[in-house]
Amino acid sequence: MTWAPRRVRSRRTYEDAVEQIELALLAGDLRIGDRLPSERDLATGLGVSRPTVRQAVQALVQVGALHVEPGPGGGIFVRSDDVPGAQLKAHVNLTVSDVAHVLEARRLIEPQVAQLAGIFAGEADFRYMQDTIDRHREVVDDREKSNRMDTRFHLAMARATGNSVLEETVCSLLARISLATDMDYRQPADPLRGICAHEETLDALKSRDPLRIERAMDGHLAILEDLWEREAGRPRLRAWPRPSSTSAHP
Ligand SMILES: [Zn+2]
Repeated sequence: MTWAPRRVRSRRTYEDAVEQIELALLAGDLRIGDRLPSERDLATGLGVSRPTVRQAVQALVQVGALHVEPGPGGGIFVRSDDVPGAQLKAHVNLTVSDVAHVLEARRLIEPQVAQLAGIFAGEADFRYMQDTIDRHREVVDDREKSNRMDTRFHLAMARATGNSVLEETVCSLLARISLATDMDYRQPADPLRGICAHEETLDALKSRDPLRIERAMDGHLAILEDLWEREAGRPRLRAWPRPSSTSAHP
């Protein structure tokens, strides 16, 4: 028998609601000062009970993401969009050896996601990515916040494809990648290198040149891969044929 059991996910519904709101905050669908729908509308929209909504909102109030103003004119408001994203990671169990698979999956998917974003991204997407880079620079000394800004950039890129399946796929990858980034490396990645990579990627996206985007993503993804390779002392990726874009379009 080659089957090995994997831990099943056991989650409470309110955690799904928290995750959805956290994702909206990360992706910029909810911004600081925004008022959320009423508790009743949230319950209907999320398909959960009002006590569940209350529990989710309470959890997000506790981490400083939301605040609730009572009384007439009150409501549920966004206080900070810099959320820990704990729910996004909570259901991902990642071992060190899984990291190689995550990095490999990312190699296969994200450069093409970026190329698609290069076709479909609009000015608002570019502005959001630039804003993320600017904020990243401000928190460069705070590793956790810096990692969050990295996630935000990649999520924005996936969103810019306008394809919700790809967005979900990248989101699931990012939850795993951020665990890989959080791992205690002896030599953590230089966050400035990450910011430079984001700038290059954004410039490449704006140029809408698929080859330039591929090159930018190549350097970009190599940052975490190099780090993991050094740390694990083994090659990060298995050898697999990778036709270059040039040979695909002679
Ligand atoms: Zn990045």
